[in-house]
Amino acid sequence: MSTDPIAPHRRGVLRRGVAVLTVGLAAGGPLRAGAASKVSKAFVKYQETPNGAWRCGLCRSFIPPTGAAGEVIGTCKIVDGPITRDGWCQVFSPLKRPEGAGG
Ligand code: SF4
Repeated sequence: MSTDPIAPHRRGVLRRGVAVLTVGLAAGGPLRAGAASKVSKAFVKYQETPNGAWRCGLCRSFIPPTGAAGEVIGTCKIVDGPITRDGWCQVFSPLKRPEGAGG
C-alpha cells in the first residue's frame, strides 16, 4: 500500500495523460501541425481559473514566463498556446500538494 497521499490522483492523471496522447495520435484531431507534441486547450478542458487550490503554476508541465517579474502567462509542455499561471486543465499533475488542497 502506498504512503503517498496523492498517489490515487497521480494514477488518474497518468490514465488521462495516456488517453490524451493515445486519442491524439490515433485521431490526429487535437494535434496540430507546428505543435506536433501538444494538444488543444479544448481537448483537456483548459480553463483560465484555478480548480480549487490546483492551478497551472503548481503543475509539473507549466513553463513559467521568462519576462518581467509578476508576468503570469507562460506555456505548457502538453497544452498548446499561452497558459496562465492561474489556469487549470484535466491533465494537471502537481509539483507538490498545495496547502488547503482536499482529497
Ligand atoms: S494544468 Fe494543464 S494547462 Fe496547466 S500547466 Fe498543467 S498540463 Fe498545462
